[in-house]
Amino acid sequence: MKIIHITAECYPVAKVGGLADVVGSLPKYQNNLGEDSSVLMPFYDTAFTKENSFSEVFSSEIDLDRTFSFSVRKLDKSTLGFELYFIDIPELLFTEYVYSEDDTLRFLAFQIAALQWICGLKEKPNVIHCHDHHTGLTPFMMSYANDFAQLKDVPSILTIHNAQYQGWFSHEKSHLIPEFDHQHFGLLDWDHSINPLAAAIKCAWKVTTVSPSYMEELKQNANGLEQLLAHESAKCIGILNGIDVNVWNTETDPFILKNYSLSTLDAGKKANKDWLCKEYGLNPKLPLFVFIGRLVGEKGADLFPEIFDKVLNAHQISVLLLGSGSKDIELGLSELNTKHSGAYNSYIGYDEKLSHIIYAGADFLLMPSRVEPCGLNQMYSLRYGTIPVVNAVGGLKDTVIDLNEEGFGILHKELSVDLAAEAIARGVELFKNQKKFKEIRKEIMSIDHSWDVSAEEYIKLYKSIK
Ligand code: ADP
Repeated sequence: MKIIHITAECYPVAKVGGLADVVGSLPKYQNNLGEDSSVLMPFYDTAFTKENSFSEVFSSEIDLDRTFSFSVRKLDKSTLGFELYFIDIPELLFTEYVYSEDDTLRFLAFQIAALQWICGLKEKPNVIHCHDHHTGLTPFMMSYANDFAQLKDVPSILTIHNAQYQGWFSHEKSHLIPEFDHQHFGLLDWDHSINPLAAAIKCAWKVTTVSPSYMEELKQNANGLEQLLAHESAKCIGILNGIDVNVWNTETDPFILKNYSLSTLDAGKKANKDWLCKEYGLNPKLPLFVFIGRLVGEKGADLFPEIFDKVLNAHQISVLLLGSGSKDIELGLSELNTKHSGAYNSYIGYDEKLSHIIYAGADFLLMPSRVEPCGLNQMYSLRYGTIPVVNAVGGLKDTVIDLNEEGFGILHKELSVDLAAEAIARGVELFKNQKKFKEIRKEIMSIDHSWDVSAEEYIKLYKSIK
């Protein structure tokens, strides 16, 4: 089966969050299953595009408010486990960032150029797999745009990685969408604006979310799309993300300071923890609680200043945070640096290498998310022998079982400062019982969250369409 994933992010080319990790690994696992799966994304100005070579395979023009030339480039000698193609529109897409304040024109141009190229391919794909709102107009254009009539019968799939962001734009910009029969205009609209995510939910042949629990939660809370998702539920299914166990492998990870396996777990984690504690001025003897991620309300990060202040006053622990996001939250956290110097520290920014060392060196990973479509961090942390302390939502609920239920993690039932602090206190108690603590981290390292199962579920889903 020929599958093309269309996406705004793909690891290791451009990563903002979990979307990149998923699109950077799922196609590889699909190819391992004998399929022909590739990725198409914008050509950004990133380290990856600077350091690699590409060959032009197509060039043309698109008309939006004005004419833009574009080319399709293919990565030479891909070692990623899949072929990687890029839409290069220098004026719109060749930026150091992935997302900006207003991306309507950028991602619309990307999708139109993508479909133009796909229309010209000798061998048409069997499935076009779109990811999030950035590619949300693709299913509509495949079904109704006159220019892409050749793709009418090609099934399109939408995966919702995050329904909070929907790519809304005003009706005034609808003329940018290639010509279509206006009787279908309603498919683009949701609540009086053009809503690419809603359009994709309506027009894609199948819709998936990145965990089964998130699918259920979206019917109650989907930033305005609850009714639509409930209405379309017959074609919707939740498929839990997997992780790339080649990239996330404690025995070979080139980023961490000491590699380790099950049999060298204690020494390996200690070496990584010692380095982190030295680097960030923390006491390596204390339990190390960490957070890695975007500092936004969805992750519960607005409560961090209060949660951390409370637990740092109450317990002898170390807290290390890696992330960036809301300036207010960053400011609130910076006060902790002075108040709890020696017990709390942070790196405000994005650092892939540091994130790997933190997964390896930490004792507990905190994820008090309000919304967590799947969450990859908890799966990386399990694989690296770091015990997750999480709020029971979305994919966290699907992947972490509480110690009290013969599981291996610590769950709180909802998000509040008190409940998150209580969960951390349970971690502190567990750490005091070193025998049990070490048994659990051994156990979690062996949990299999690789893509093997989920990659097959996607293939089954594609095949069910025919
Ligand atoms: P989301 O996509 O909502 O941000 P996920 O848990 O699905 O959350 O994926 C987050 C991914 O981004 C993980 O691979 C995590 O390690 C990584 N990540 C998030 N923030 C940072 C950061 N500041 N530095 C390095 N990696 C980060």
